[in-house]
Amino acid sequence: MNTSVYLDHNATAPLRPCAAEAMARALAETGNPSSVHGFGRRARRRVEDAREAVAALADADPAGVVFTAGATEANNLALGLARGRRVLVSAVEHDSVLAAAPEATRIPVDGDGLVDLDALDRLVAEVAGQSAAGPLLVSVMLANNETGAVQPVAEAVARVRAVAPDALLHCDAVQAAGRIPVDMAALGVDMLALSAHKLGGPQGVGALIVRDGVPLVADRRGGGQERGRRAGTEPVAAIAGFGAAAQEAAGESWDDVRALRERLEASAREISPDCRVFAAGAPRLPNTTCLTLPGMSAETQVMALDLAGVAVSAGAACSSGKVALSHVLLAMGVGPDEAATAIRVSLGPATTGAEVDRFLDLWGALVRQARAAA
Ligand code: PMP
Repeated sequence: MNTSVYLDHNATAPLRPCAAEAMARALAETGNPSSVHGFGRRARRRVEDAREAVAALADADPAGVVFTAGATEANNLALGLARGRRVLVSAVEHDSVLAAAPEATRIPVDGDGLVDLDALDRLVAEVAGQSAAGPLLVSVMLANNETGAVQPVAEAVARVRAVAPDALLHCDAVQAAGRIPVDMAALGVDMLALSAHKLGGPQGVGALIVRDGVPLVADRRGGGQERGRRAGTEPVAAIAGFGAAAQEAAGESWDDVRALRERLEASAREISPDCRVFAAGAPRLPNTTCLTLPGMSAETQVMALDLAGVAVSAGAACSSGKVALSHVLLAMGVGPDEAATAIRVSLGPATTGAEVDRFLDLWGALVRQARAAA
């Protein structure tokens, strides 16, 4: 049997038909959203409709939405405010946050991958006590791409603001949006990053949603687009696809996905009682599981599953090719040997029970193979 099973939605989700249709409609028309004539105005309408849909997904103000070429750019734009500030980032952030703020102090996480709020208190107090430290920028993601752990962002924000009211707070909500409710005001953050392709929109478009008054520093210059916050002609079709995907994603229930994920984990534990599921004690995204197969490397598992037509990933495969241990698992205190055996399985709204069974059959065979080799 060689039917393909896609269980890597955290890497990228399949394009939703509604997004493909919105893109096709936009591509069929000519028009620069900055042009004042009718062609331009129609293109502008598409961009503004999408802005509203994207803002609605995060319960945010459409005026704050800055379209970017994906969340890597959105995170870089947010962390552009690091200049002249002390920066704290959680130790489990995506590389697009970590690499954009190399000088940042990392907020430790517990064994389930949740930010250690007492450690955050201590770090904030330390910075507040240093008069020369400058204002503070703090970045804590909403849901982790590898484990699915959902961070206590609102609580972290409240603790930071209690000591440093003028601190800027950024949240990478890429993996959360469309899967769990995201409410920018309730989170209390100043900036929030989204990516279209994680929720069934096209790759190469995302957004940074910015609260009014945040002194964003544009990192591209040469045009007044996006209210001067991101120069360059808007990719109208991609943005229209993002908007359509955001609108559809907003009304979806992931209860069935969660039930499938629970079944997958329960079966995996039955097959292999010494298998470990990471962040199992934390609130988690409904679709993600990160689990070990003692005695077999993640690469071996991913390749064997791929040969049989089932796609999963080894840790964070975002920028694939490199075989590096997951900084997320290491930050959670997982030993390198165990971390090397962890794969990430991420389901989507269309994933079926038969697909999960197919994964379990193959994975069970790998468990037996590892046992035989031990
Ligand atoms: N943040 C997180 C948590 C992610 O999972 C990803 C994608 N792997 C990104 C940021 C980067 O998004 P994009 O692919 O749109 O650049």
